[in-house]
Amino acid sequence: MNVHIKSPGAATTRYIARRHGMLIDGKWRQAANGAVSQIMDPGLGKVIADVPCGTGADVDLAVAAARRAFEDGPWRMMKPNERSKLIWRLADLIEHHADTIAELESINNGMPVAVAKAGHVGPSVDLIRYTAGWPTKLTGETIPVSSPGEWHAYTLREPVGVVGQIVPWNGPLMMAAWKIAPALAAGCTIVLKPAEQTPLTALYLAELALEAGFPKGVFNVVLGGAEVGAAMASHPDIDKIAFTGSTRTGRSIATAAAATNLKRVSLELGGKSPVIVFPDADLSLAIPGVASGIFSNAGQICTAGSRVYAHESVFDRLVDGVASAAQSLKVGYGLAEGSQMGPLISSTQLERVSSMTAQGVREGASVVTGGEAMESDGYFYKPTILAGLNPQMSVVREEIFGPVLSVLRYTDDDLDGIARQANDSPYGLAASIFTQNLQVAHKMAARLRAGTIGINRHFVGDSAMPFGGFRQSGWGRERGREVFDSYLETKAIASPL
Ligand code: NAD
Repeated sequence: MNVHIKSPGAATTRYIARRHGMLIDGKWRQAANGAVSQIMDPGLGKVIADVPCGTGADVDLAVAAARRAFEDGPWRMMKPNERSKLIWRLADLIEHHADTIAELESINNGMPVAVAKAGHVGPSVDLIRYTAGWPTKLTGETIPVSSPGEWHAYTLREPVGVVGQIVPWNGPLMMAAWKIAPALAAGCTIVLKPAEQTPLTALYLAELALEAGFPKGVFNVVLGGAEVGAAMASHPDIDKIAFTGSTRTGRSIATAAAATNLKRVSLELGGKSPVIVFPDADLSLAIPGVASGIFSNAGQICTAGSRVYAHESVFDRLVDGVASAAQSLKVGYGLAEGSQMGPLISSTQLERVSSMTAQGVREGASVVTGGEAMESDGYFYKPTILAGLNPQMSVVREEIFGPVLSVLRYTDDDLDGIARQANDSPYGLAASIFTQNLQVAHKMAARLRAGTIGINRHFVGDSAMPFGGFRQSGWGRERGREVFDSYLETKAIASPL
């Protein structure tokens, strides 16, 4: 494993060492009960910081601040082009601090720092800038009314109100950016809860939002785990929860929301995304596409291409190619020179990935490469490929959220039959298709039940492209124009003339 660790910059070291707080009503606060929790560096397996650990009492304070800012503060009356400027300014500040934020993300999440900068900070800036253009374009419509007489009828699109946003640890900054930017553009006020493992870049983001000039109470951050998230989901004064995380937690949030005030809920949940490799696929695209589809971020990506269906005529060449890509991947500490894949987020996640893979082997899977943890104080797991599978095995059906690829062989030439296998999952987040035949590609894209589909590339996406899941992968869409459907209410107004 790569051990030539580069020290972080002085600004990063200073930031980690400072006393951290939660941002509530424009002020940094400790938890109401004084509790703290420890933040880990998963690459070294050691504690790097203490942060406040909130409870429902802190959620109450943050929601009250967000409510005041929504009902009475300057935010409500601010002109859309002024909101745009603030959001754009936030993007500029993130870009200005990109090196520090990338190092923080790498140290706290484990991802290689180059990936953090190019694949997380850069796209977050882009998404925030894309979204900054929207406040002036969130318009209603005039409606032609059919009732007798003359009418003037129109719709207004108004912010849904106080929004609770709960995000996971696998892309802490980017997941927060996807949530806060459109909510702010729509005129909502926010209580953001980062994952308990990875609060540092969300706190940095909040500090930059203060510097950008958002009025107090518009953007609040509370810290803590399931207890704090659950307090948000059942809070009577939150109008909407936007959640990214596991399907299990998504279900409990939807239940809590239904049981309290029927708050709006949008959910970005898990996946077990299929990759289909046709006999005519260009393997110089398919091999790196499949490898990056599963090994990026150590497989801790909701859209990871974790289930490959390869035609028998290309199966062996594809598996050999992906196995040699796996073996040549530089697995190492995020700040080490040349690292391409970092650790898993925690010892719990390492244990989960190890035991799910072992369960697959007990069910009859054969390990092509990897299949075990690496010798280290950090939580590293070898890039792994499993073959000899059948569709009922747990490693084919369940989300592992680690660098573990399940490869299945198909013999079918019938597109409907192949699509049936790929669609045989409770999830429907993403899929990809490798073929040189564009007719086959687009016919298959129409048959797959997933929110994002790549052709000759697994990860596809852009700030302007909607993102979200079919079936148990979620409710609603983020990014693009469609995200605003979840942060705006439509009001219909009519007057006989
Ligand atoms: P998780 O559901 O355990 O936690 C996610 C967030 O929810 C954290 O902030 C956590 O503190 C909070 N939380 C936990 N229990 C809660 C509860 N009962 N009520 C309210 N909030 C609660 O998920 P995880 O294991 O940390 O993250 C991995 C999961 O996230 C995977 O399933 C992955 O597919 C999914 N994910 C989805 C997307 C997407 O956009 N679809 C993106 C990234 C990750």
